[in-house]
Amino acid sequence: MKIEILGAHNTETDRCRLPCLLVDDEIALDAGGLTSSLALDKQQRIKAVLLTHHHFDHTKDLVMLGANDSMPPSTVDVYGLPDTLEAVYLYLLDGKMYRDYTQWPSKDQPRLRLRPIAPFQRLFIQNHEIVPVPVSHTVPAVGYLVKAEGGRSIFYTGDTGNGLSECWERVTPDVLFIEVTGLNRMEADMVRLRHLTPLLLAQELQHYRNLKGHIPRVIITHLSVLYEEELRQEIADAGKLLEMELEIGYEGLTIDL
Ligand SMILES: [Zn+2]
Ligand SMILES: [Zn+2]
Repeated sequence: MKIEILGAHNTETDRCRLPCLLVDDEIALDAGGLTSSLALDKQQRIKAVLLTHHHFDHTKDLVMLGANDSMPPSTVDVYGLPDTLEAVYLYLLDGKMYRDYTQWPSKDQPRLRLRPIAPFQRLFIQNHEIVPVPVSHTVPAVGYLVKAEGGRSIFYTGDTGNGLSECWERVTPDVLFIEVTGLNRMEADMVRLRHLTPLLLAQELQHYRNLKGHIPRVIITHLSVLYEEELRQEIADAGKLLEMELEIGYEGLTIDL
């Protein structure tokens, strides 16, 4: 399984993109930095997009994915919780903001097909087994466990606050992609906004270790650009507490599992 980070930040600038992971060139997890990161022919290989939640930083590029059709025309399946898809349809794809790509070029063969999912529903997409697992955010949200043929797996949390113990009982990935957004001194705000700081992440990973006896390889995304330098230091310190390396993801990082 090949996983490429297309977007590793919570904002977009000339050097960083919004959240998006690409799995084996065909499945996107979130669509923040999807079309803004990929050549047209690579966009046209995408078969499915799995949305963690509806926030704009995770869904922005869906519109251009709809616009960048292939020849012959093909349909991309867009999966998400019913609440997620409802918001995405209402505010991005309803035909007022731009074209309604769930009806275009035709109702029978649209460019984007919205496919509601339920927590823990097992999906089989392009030879991958995928399970959505609820996480704690300000709006309904899931992370995705993605397992390739042969059994290697990743878990991508998307945006999450603390309190992941129930989630940890459901997933045992080889690589964990998880967010850190704010600094340790912002903990009260991050708890309220349902995001993680380096110290909150360390606590969640310690819970994981208590439960399973180990911590998988950890790659952090969704960093705030404003505080990135300080965050890197605090993440390194959190790694020392756990006696392991906490890797910081970046745009273009590709791993083979
Ligand atoms: Zn969010
Ligand atoms: Zn976000």
